[in-house]
Amino acid sequence: MNKKGMLVIISGPSGSGKGTVVKQLNRKDFALSISMTTRKPRAGELNGKDYLFCTKEEFVKIRESGGFLEHAEFVGNMYGTPKEYVKNQVNEGKAVILEIDVVGALQVKEKFEDSISIFLIPPSISDLYSRLKGRKTEDDATIIRRIKRAKSEIEYMQKYDYIVINDDINEAVQKLHTIIDSEYLKPSRNQNFINKILGDDFDVTTVLFGTNEQIERN
Ligand code: ADP
Ligand code: 5GP
Repeated sequence: MNKKGMLVIISGPSGSGKGTVVKQLNRKDFALSISMTTRKPRAGELNGKDYLFCTKEEFVKIRESGGFLEHAEFVGNMYGTPKEYVKNQVNEGKAVILEIDVVGALQVKEKFEDSISIFLIPPSISDLYSRLKGRKTEDDATIIRRIKRAKSEIEYMQKYDYIVINDDINEAVQKLHTIIDSEYLKPSRNQNFINKILGDDFDVTTVLFGTNEQIERN
């Protein structure tokens, strides 16, 4: 693979559809970072697939040893991105998807200026509520906390490179593909090609009329 790897941050309030959208981004040149969390698994969530579930003690140990690329607390639980996997995948030229909250996103943007950040948001807060309620994974008290948190997260929306409104799911997925594909077209991501074509010594005169020696001979 000759593409330069990149970090793609996807944030958005709980229930905005991040998990749903990210599951559909299955491309060979993408890698999904699996976060570590102290949150309890929801019904159907698998350790090692949805998250790496751990205790607070385990989380703190890894955090103290510098094992996270970023980390944050979210509504009473801790979340972090294990550094090693992301580093390896970027080195292999993959677009590594980080599904993380706004606090983590700011940390990544500060450390990696060429990361791209996308904020996913439903058309309205009432849609957000219906989706969270419809998911049936949180009790009402947790839903209230998450919606309150959503309002403060939305204030960070303007700091992101792109905003994707998750109305129709297929359209939202398509927009993410478009954003990432366009990113690959930026000059900063094609420096090798730029250097190659700048150094290309193709000489149109020689091709049309021959070398100086040939011209003199004729
Ligand atoms: P997040 O990962 O951001 O917390 P989820 O991906 O779990 O959100 O989505 C929350 C709920 O909303 C899920 O039940 C999901 O099926 C539903 N959902 C996601 N996107 C859409 C959409 N575009 N239209 C309707 N429902 C959606
Ligand atoms: P949930 O409990 O709904 O799975 O996730 C809650 C929030 O934590 C979401 O906003 C999600 O994006 C965020 N999150 C998940 N993993 C990480 C991570 O590794 N780091 C940070 N900073 N946030 C994360």
